[in-house]
Formats: sequence, C-alpha cells, structure tokens
Amino acid sequence: MLELKNIELRQGTFALHASFSVDPAARAAVIGPSGAGKSTLLMALAGFLKPASGQLSWDGADITSTAPSARPFSVLFQDNNLFPHMSVAQNVGLGVRPSLRLSAKDKTRVQEALLSVGLLGMDERKPAELSGGQQSRVALARVLVQRKPMLLLDEPFAALGPALKIEMLDLVAELCEKLGAGLLMVSHDPEDARRICENTILVADGLAHAPTATDDLLDNPPEPLRAYLGK
Ligand code: ADP
Repeated sequence: MLELKNIELRQGTFALHASFSVDPAARAAVIGPSGAGKSTLLMALAGFLKPASGQLSWDGADITSTAPSARPFSVLFQDNNLFPHMSVAQNVGLGVRPSLRLSAKDKTRVQEALLSVGLLGMDERKPAELSGGQQSRVALARVLVQRKPMLLLDEPFAALGPALKIEMLDLVAELCEKLGAGLLMVSHDPEDARRICENTILVADGLAHAPTATDDLLDNPPEPLRAYLGK
C-alpha cells in the first residue's frame, strides 16, 4: 500500500494537503483545476519535492526521504524528455542504466520493452525520425524497462490527437495489467479517467482527496469538480 500520512506540500505560497492510501495495483487518475497541485503531488511522490511535513510510506516502509531512483515509481512527464541525438534503443536503455553501459541481459530488456510498445525494429532511429505517437511509445518503453511497481504519468499524451491519445491510454492500461503495475495518471480530461482508471483522486482547494470510484465521482461531482467540469 502507498500511504500519504498528513502530507503537506509547499511551492512558494501554494500549499497542498494529502492524507490517504492508494492501492498499488490499481489505476487511479488525478484530476482537478489547473494550478490545483496535481503535478506537485506527482513530483512529491516521485521524490523531486520534499514534503514540508508528513510521511510517505510504501508497504509500511518510510520513503519520505528516499532518493527518486530508489522509489517504487517510474515517472513520465508531458514533454517525454527524449534525447534527440540518441537512438530509440539508447533512449530506452537510459531507463535501465543512465550510464548506458548495458549488459546483454539489459539489451534484451530494452528489446522486450520495444516489443511491448510495438516498436520492435526501430531501435536505430532517432526521435526526429518517428511520429509523435511513436515518440510517446519510446518514452513509455523507457518507463517500462525500469520495472517499477507503479507508473506515475503526468499528462504524457496531452500533445497527441484524440485517436492517438486513446490508443496510448489503452496501451498503458494493457501494459499495467500485463506487468501487474499500478498507475497514477494526471489528466485534464475526465474521459481519460473514465477510460482506464477505476479510481480518481480529486485535487482542488488545497486538498488531494482520497481515491474514489471514477464513475461515481464524475456522475455525482462535488462542488469543486462541478465548477471545473462546467456542470
Ligand atoms: P496543476 O498540476 O494542478 O496544474 P501545479 O502542481 O503545477 O498544478 O501547481 C500548483 C501550484 O503551485 C500553482 O499555484 C503554481 O503556481 C505553484 N507552483 C508550481 N511550481 C512552483 C514553483 N516552482 N515555485 C512556486 N510556485 C509554484
């Protein structure tokens, strides 16, 4: 279980509180108004922002001060962060070893990840030689090779058109199932949540709420979500 115990996050004058548990094997969306703190929450879980107070724990172990690379999460942000001068295989290999000194076993892992995102045979291409959807798949493969128990995605497919976005969301859901990985996914589109996340965490008015069933939340939105959805 991932537990946030009386967590307070601060960015300048902004403050966000969170106190709840997340099922590490489930898929949860993180939605709420712009500027509400969704990215802040993910940054803190990933270990890039230290909580002002409170405790984060994973399977009962305190990970509040654990280095990002030692946390049970792999993270994918919106801009993909692919290195243009590196090949597809090297970009994915960075997920296994930042030094890129890959053993034969590591290289197999890279190939397996490329296969799982449908990019086998594209290893030598540079990101510029790929479509936007394929670039997203490379970024996803780099996250998958890390073999962490949970994926944290921050609007990773927001730049894609609707059809491609749906394809990537379904791929994420399928891979999470296959790998037995959990998911926390920030999205500005509630339909993304409905599509692949059984639970949703609403972030609004300085509070990250406990995960609730996505359909219940979206069908009967509380006031801050109603305002956001324009209902
Ligand atoms: P969301 O992802 O929901 O759009 P963010 O987590 O990006 O919201 O931002 C939450 C709040 O934190 C915003 O009010 C934003 O202005 C503030 N904020 C974000 N980053 C910084 C920063 N580096 N310094 C000061 N304030 C920040």
